[in-house]
Amino acid sequence: MQKQRFALLALPFLIAAAPSNDAAALRDAALKDDTAWKITEALTTEIGPRLAGSEQEARAREWAVAKLKSLGFKNVRIETFDIPGWERGEERGAIVAPYPQPLALTALGNSGATPPEGIEAPLVAFPNVAALQAAPAEQVRGKIVYVGNEMHAAQDGSSYGYFGAVRRSVPSIASQKGALAAVIRGLGTDSHRVPHTGITNFEAGVTPIAAAALSNPDADQIERIVAQGKPITLRLLITPRRTGTRQSGNVIAEVPGSDPSAGIVAIGGHLDSWDLGTGAIDDAAGVAITAAAAKQIMDAGRPRRTIRVIWFGSEEIGGNGGQAYFDRHKSEPHAAVGESDFGADRVWRFETKLNPAAAPLTARLEAVLAPLGITKGNGKASAGADLGPWVRAGTNGIDLDQDGLRYFDVHHTADDTLDKIDPDQLAQNVAAWTAMLAIVANAPEALVESRD
Ligand code: ZN
Ligand code: ZN
Repeated sequence: MQKQRFALLALPFLIAAAPSNDAAALRDAALKDDTAWKITEALTTEIGPRLAGSEQEARAREWAVAKLKSLGFKNVRIETFDIPGWERGEERGAIVAPYPQPLALTALGNSGATPPEGIEAPLVAFPNVAALQAAPAEQVRGKIVYVGNEMHAAQDGSSYGYFGAVRRSVPSIASQKGALAAVIRGLGTDSHRVPHTGITNFEAGVTPIAAAALSNPDADQIERIVAQGKPITLRLLITPRRTGTRQSGNVIAEVPGSDPSAGIVAIGGHLDSWDLGTGAIDDAAGVAITAAAAKQIMDAGRPRRTIRVIWFGSEEIGGNGGQAYFDRHKSEPHAAVGESDFGADRVWRFETKLNPAAAPLTARLEAVLAPLGITKGNGKASAGADLGPWVRAGTNGIDLDQDGLRYFDVHHTADDTLDKIDPDQLAQNVAAWTAMLAIVANAPEALVESRD
């Protein structure tokens, strides 16, 4: 407590004398900063849903350029790329037999469409992907496939990684076996009739069929009837459409460093969102946290390394923005990368994947992050969907892992709205990112791996 008061008292003098790069002082100042909240509030209020390739996503880019310039960032620009467009249509479903009831469902991204009058067909249920994979085509042909999952809340979100295969691959496998449509238990940990969307992938050459996620209570209903051994008939009307090639883009902003040879520290989140909610936790919070932290460093004086803030486009449909950034910038020296894309709850652990020259960073990060309640992980940083390609190519990666216990209650649903964000936990994120940047952007070590 005393130490913190000293830091606050000392800060104005340090700023007057010389720019302060003291990581602990910057960390503590960031705890009181509401820049991230203001960005999140404005993006969700003034733009709202930002589906990849949509007019809304394009508006979000223009909005982002103006916002980042007004915050004082340099070299603010948009880098565009093309994506395959898809947009939602009507979506309705019901159990026709044995117990007629409406179903709460939503189409998965990339879903094909039913005919405009809908379909009515028998349901065939499988407990998991492997059981569907093993089923003979005769068991599936002409039917609607159902597959459940046992996703539960986990602090590290690992349950999503494991059961994600249900959403990603069930519709493609079902189509290959001649199914008319596929419905899954959505990947969510809530008990509300608010279904969770997300991307599904049809393998090359496979006809996209209608694919939808049921809310947990609706999936429970299906599974209770399956357990009774009664034949089930469903009616589905799902009419999304592929819109051809659309433009998306990444928005990039910089805090120029004093030593161009020291490499770039690239951080960010994704600007696109699913279309059902306003993309507050996924991922307005992530773009806001990373920009607010970079601004803290910028306002304290020039860092050694350039900090590049990237607000990626089209993450939700397959990390297209991340791949476009890597392809375009892979020859530029990057010292380290980090991504915020897991909501807005507090950071509880940090993970690193560091080259030998960067190893001394770990102890300094541990010391500056521990006062925020953040513990050292197991050295398994991956940097997420958008900056992951850099870590896989050998660039230093630092993850600030957020608490995921609440994340999948609202992830990819109409309930992903600003009110789900706790301003104090959001500020803790900014403090953690600020402290991390203060260490990494100013580290005296040579962090850029020479690649021959
Ligand atoms: Zn995300
Ligand atoms: Zn997402």
